[in-house]
Amino acid sequence: MKNLLYYYKKALKSGFALGAFNFSNLETLKAIASACEKSKSPAIIAVSESALNYMGDEFIVENVKIIKNHCKAPLFLHLDHGKSFDVCKKAVDLGFDSIMIDASSSPFEENVSLTKKVCDYAHNKGIFVEGELGQLAGIEDNVSVEENHFTNPQKAKEFVKLTNVDSLAVAIGTSHGAYKYQGESKLRFDILVQIEKNLPRFPLVLHGASSVNKEYVDIINNNGGNIKNAKGVSEELTKMAVQMHNVVKINIDTDLRMAFTAGIRKSMNENPENFDQRKYCLLGQKYVEDVVSHKIKYLLNSENKI
Ligand SMILES: [Zn+2]
Repeated sequence: MKNLLYYYKKALKSGFALGAFNFSNLETLKAIASACEKSKSPAIIAVSESALNYMGDEFIVENVKIIKNHCKAPLFLHLDHGKSFDVCKKAVDLGFDSIMIDASSSPFEENVSLTKKVCDYAHNKGIFVEGELGQLAGIEDNVSVEENHFTNPQKAKEFVKLTNVDSLAVAIGTSHGAYKYQGESKLRFDILVQIEKNLPRFPLVLHGASSVNKEYVDIINNNGGNIKNAKGVSEELTKMAVQMHNVVKINIDTDLRMAFTAGIRKSMNENPENFDQRKYCLLGQKYVEDVVSHKIKYLLNSENKI
């Protein structure tokens, strides 16, 4: 099978990006795989450290193996926001395709030294490593940051050289979670351009890129939920980052959680007599598949790229 680097290079050349879709249950994983297969799109399936703990290491690895074997689109298992050498090592040893070491909350030198240590270990086993420089505001799983610290373009070049990472997550104004902006969403394309000048043709990653679709927020709120003032990044802005710049991986988690919750709430509300979880999970699964298909087609441009 073609590896992740092949698709990063292809994405850089042809102006598309791979979706990195987070999952923490089987329904979401199946929905992602189904959407990718129908759209003939490669994708990254991502688990955070807390998702690993929630589902169990072996459960994830074995189920992903089965899903990968049956899916006609290439899926790459990725560790999202590994915070320590030990958790990154564990993911490498479990057979992940790619890992992220996130030491972005540490001072530059510490970030470099931990990222390099992880790269040395992972590269030895042929596993790709994503590092992060700069910090995104927001809350997601075990990552919580109060304000944005944009990536320093000069430091980005130094960081890549010193650590040997394969891709770099940059902070240009996206943020984690469902409450990203109070006003209009903004991305610092000027910083992105500077980073690209310093790191030509180098794969860049945007985290916290959910658009928080109003349609699903409304379904949740109309069916007993209470989600107020949720706001994501406009898809037009993220699309520009993909089409005009070197962004080859876009992380999407919140949008899938919203869709799954919307499906379950709607199904439960409309069928109060039902207690068969397969019925309400099915609508959640369908909504997740709809979102992934939409992202592939309109945001990532990764349709028919396998
Ligand atoms: Zn993230």
